[in-house]
Amino acid sequence: MSNKVLVYVEINNNKIEKVSKEIIAKASESFVNSEVNAVLISDENTYEHVYNELCGLNISKLYVIVDKLFDSYNTCLFSDVLSNFLRENTPDIFLIGATTNGRDLAPRTASNLDIGLTADCTDLQIDENGNLLATRPTYGGKLLATIVSRTKPNFATVRSGAFACTDLNSDKEPEIIKINPNVNNIDALFQVISCKPKPQAEDWTCAEIIVSGGLGLNSKDNFDLIYKLSELIGAKPAATRAAVELGWAPESIQVGQTGSSVSPKLYLAFGISGAMQHMVGISNADKIIAINTNTNAPIMSQSDIAIVADAAAVLKDMIEKLSVKSKQAHL
Ligand SMILES: Cc1cc2nc3c(=O)[nH]c(=O)nc-3n(C[C@H](O)[C@H](O)[C@H](O)COP(=O)(O)OP(=O)(O)OC[C@H]3O[C@@H](n4cnc5c(N)ncnc54)[C@H](O)[C@@H]3O)c2cc1C
Repeated sequence: MSNKVLVYVEINNNKIEKVSKEIIAKASESFVNSEVNAVLISDENTYEHVYNELCGLNISKLYVIVDKLFDSYNTCLFSDVLSNFLRENTPDIFLIGATTNGRDLAPRTASNLDIGLTADCTDLQIDENGNLLATRPTYGGKLLATIVSRTKPNFATVRSGAFACTDLNSDKEPEIIKINPNVNNIDALFQVISCKPKPQAEDWTCAEIIVSGGLGLNSKDNFDLIYKLSELIGAKPAATRAAVELGWAPESIQVGQTGSSVSPKLYLAFGISGAMQHMVGISNADKIIAINTNTNAPIMSQSDIAIVADAAAVLKDMIEKLSVKSKQAHL
């Protein structure tokens, strides 16, 4: 049995959104017996800009729905066009990145098609019958619910960073199917007059090593050691929400349910208890090392290596030893 998986490719500033690539990589790697295809809604100009990037995606077919009206995202227009497309080309599974636009587009499309939607997923699997098992935090992050939809396509939005940012770079050229939609009967309701691109912040969520700190560091001065160690080992710093709320770190580096999801090769957690709301953000980390004084802290049983020690003392020790090494290397 071959399952048809369709991924909505979102374009932002003439670039494919990272989350669209993450979903394609995840589906290609772990959905066995599945054909992974993608759909893009864009104007001709944007399509030409991203053409090479699109050809490198590891997909079988790329459906390109083009019209000059699609030069910027428009809720009613995009959801109606997408719904019409899905009525004629129903995949078994349909996935959209949970970006600002994706979170707007998905529910409207689901409502148009009268199908279910599992929003903001942090994990995806398929069962032996080809059904999507979509996992997302629930009850304020206290539980992870795995949801199987009764309607087709099984439809979900996926959080950015939930899956590794694998470099797709495939040689497999997708079959490109261009579709000219009939937009005459669609009422756009509103028109976008202008768009100001947000200044692009550095994307730290793809880092291979992340050094993260929580309340167990006990002070802002100790938290600053997280930045020092990160710099020394070429990692990116991160924090728990509790540390952010105390002003020890900016919100932009918060990991977890209401922060970012990350999937590094190594996550070093200093003085972090491992609350569910934090752990959902690192559920796809390859290795977790936790440093905590409490053997019974939840993170200790969920880590690959659990070190019972004072977090700030370990940080200071590592920084000292690594600084000596780097000085010796420069001699
Ligand atoms: C709706 C909702 C959304 C949330 N979203 C997020 C989110 O996105 N991200 C997030 O992180 N949290 C989130 N939270 C908060 C979350 O529930 C926890 O409160 C938070 O993660 C705890 O942060 P912490 O581990 O730094 O602090 P604590 O839970 O207080 O843990 C501190 C840990 O440090 C250890 N410790 C103490 N002293 C030392 C020492 N000297 N050396 C080493 N270890 C020490 C303690 O044993 C403890 O395990 C959310 C909560 C809610 C309700």
